[in-house]
Amino acid sequence: MSLFKSIIPAGAAGLITASCGGSKGDTAANNDFDYTVDRFADIEVLRYKVPGFEDLTPQQRIFIYYLSEAAIAGRDMLWDQNGRYNLAIRDLIENVYTAYDGPKDSDDFKGLELYLKQIEFANGIHHHYSTDKFLPRFSQEFLVERAAALPDSLRPANLDELLPVIFDPTVMPKRVNQAQGQDLIATSANNLYAPGVTQAEVEAYYAGLKDTTDLSPVSWGLNTRIAKENGRIVEQTYKVDGLYSASISRIIDNLSKAMQYAENDRQRDVIAKLIDYYRTGSLKTFDDYSIAWVEDTDSRVDFINGFIESYGDPLGMTGAYESIVNFKNLEASHRTEVIAGNAKWFEDNSPVDPRFRKDEVKGVSAKVITAAILAGDSYPATPIGINLPNANWIRAAHGSKSVTLENITEAYDQASHGNGFNEEFVIDAETIDLLDKYLFITDNLHTDLHECLGHASGRLLPGVDPDALRAHGSTLEETRADLFALYYLADPKLVELGLLDNPDAYKAEYYKFMLNGLMTQLMRIEPGCDIEEAHMRNRQLIAKWVFEKGEPDNVIELVKRDGKTFVKINDYTKLRALFGQLLGEIQRIKSEGDYAAGEALVENYAVKVDPELHKEVLERYSKLNIAPYKGFVNPVYTPVFDADGNITDVTVSYTEDYLPQVLRYSKEYRTL
Ligand code: ZN
Repeated sequence: MSLFKSIIPAGAAGLITASCGGSKGDTAANNDFDYTVDRFADIEVLRYKVPGFEDLTPQQRIFIYYLSEAAIAGRDMLWDQNGRYNLAIRDLIENVYTAYDGPKDSDDFKGLELYLKQIEFANGIHHHYSTDKFLPRFSQEFLVERAAALPDSLRPANLDELLPVIFDPTVMPKRVNQAQGQDLIATSANNLYAPGVTQAEVEAYYAGLKDTTDLSPVSWGLNTRIAKENGRIVEQTYKVDGLYSASISRIIDNLSKAMQYAENDRQRDVIAKLIDYYRTGSLKTFDDYSIAWVEDTDSRVDFINGFIESYGDPLGMTGAYESIVNFKNLEASHRTEVIAGNAKWFEDNSPVDPRFRKDEVKGVSAKVITAAILAGDSYPATPIGINLPNANWIRAAHGSKSVTLENITEAYDQASHGNGFNEEFVIDAETIDLLDKYLFITDNLHTDLHECLGHASGRLLPGVDPDALRAHGSTLEETRADLFALYYLADPKLVELGLLDNPDAYKAEYYKFMLNGLMTQLMRIEPGCDIEEAHMRNRQLIAKWVFEKGEPDNVIELVKRDGKTFVKINDYTKLRALFGQLLGEIQRIKSEGDYAAGEALVENYAVKVDPELHKEVLERYSKLNIAPYKGFVNPVYTPVFDADGNITDVTVSYTEDYLPQVLRYSKEYRTL
């Protein structure tokens, strides 16, 4: 549930290789766009495009502009939630950096700049993913000396208090501590709980609030900081005239302006409820807002803004401030609608025993969106999908919105051009060219077919227990959905439906799938370990099975060149037939609940790793120096005014770099 963050552990499937915007022929435009903005430590910062912004109406563009202003206005709240010294340290480091007039090539200055880039990326002094404190690569003497040279108004009064927080590795070492057996609140450096509050006190406090018979409970603690007053636990609520009042007031101000440009009454109602929630801090009102939001599926423009995900709280209660403004990608959503609309044809023609097919099949239509602004916990590190709201009872009673941010995935994909991955692992220039041209579109179609049809296809024979495959159930279910997608990706039907413009395009996804399943996904496995994760097991199961069954006809080979292993596909037509054959067998196993056959497939093909090949993949990958974590700078939106000073339109530009953007945000959106 919730937002799935694209941590992209170095070469996650689907994003390992490059393309040129698929079949749309806009490669020239893409080549002019510089996706990579900055590279430091374990981070690469990218830029994303907002295709289609120009095709919106001026009203929609102005609406997005004010929603974007509301989004960034909450920035300081996340910094403060992440640690109570974060804003003071940010001020200090930014001021020293900006005022610095010494040699730029000194180790101290370079260390300071690196530290600045790291804390701006993490919205605080702890790594955004590991939550470990950054260790500065500049000296304390250097910082003290430079701070002393600042004008009085910029020199921090509490420098002595800040220095150990910055330099002493034992002070506030981890933002979120999850180690069993310790007081998770006392040992976590986040600022969701005041100093002196213990885990036992907080748990007792919430136990007293929660009514276990309530079928529609509010999300307790979502928008509060826990403190102690006169020895008693109190909640400090994020609201107007409460905690973070200045930030929240600025958000409300911009939401109110946005409301005048909303597309319809329903959307206006969503914003009105959000404003009411920010004014009162009422969690009941937040639930009303969430229901109104999830039920608004017709508006073109959409956004989230609030305290959403609770990964930053070791007890999983308080939400981190976050906002994403977006609009529906009509072309890509058309793709998923066409697939869902033809669900019956795909089911009737699948290579499985007709006894195991569904008589009636309803495809699931997923929405594809274009992100327009990323803020708070989504900036700079960004999710590639959204699945909200988080409250279970709202999801059950009112549904959830599940969307993918295709302009973000496209930016990842484009930026991977030239990272050396294809040159290292793909067998020849011809295949690299094929991937460049068709991997992005076929990868997206693979996901669409997997999600919209694959999981929805097939049926169990009467009386078969849906959990008959037990521990292997999720691996085999992913296998089934992937095979359904792979099989149809090569079908002329996709060209007929206008989803692909070249009958050979599927070969790009076939090659990537086999390369990943046989070799490159191993870079995510520690030496000596088995494959455990269900999606990774599924991919190796498929790849190894078709490899083995194709051996008599030499369908796929592993060839050695200069001591390096390469995947070579000799017969794509036979490969497709093998995918179809395995799909038939997996569907039989599922429909009949044949646990023994399912277990045999998983044990024989999905789990074990060839240690020699594994070692080779790890060595080759480590030499590529690909950043494990990626994030984004935002585009810049500029309002256009008429002679009377009324806003008439908004333009977008993509020229701002990473440090200039975060320094500008700190200045222009300073609220706390
Ligand atoms: Zn799946």
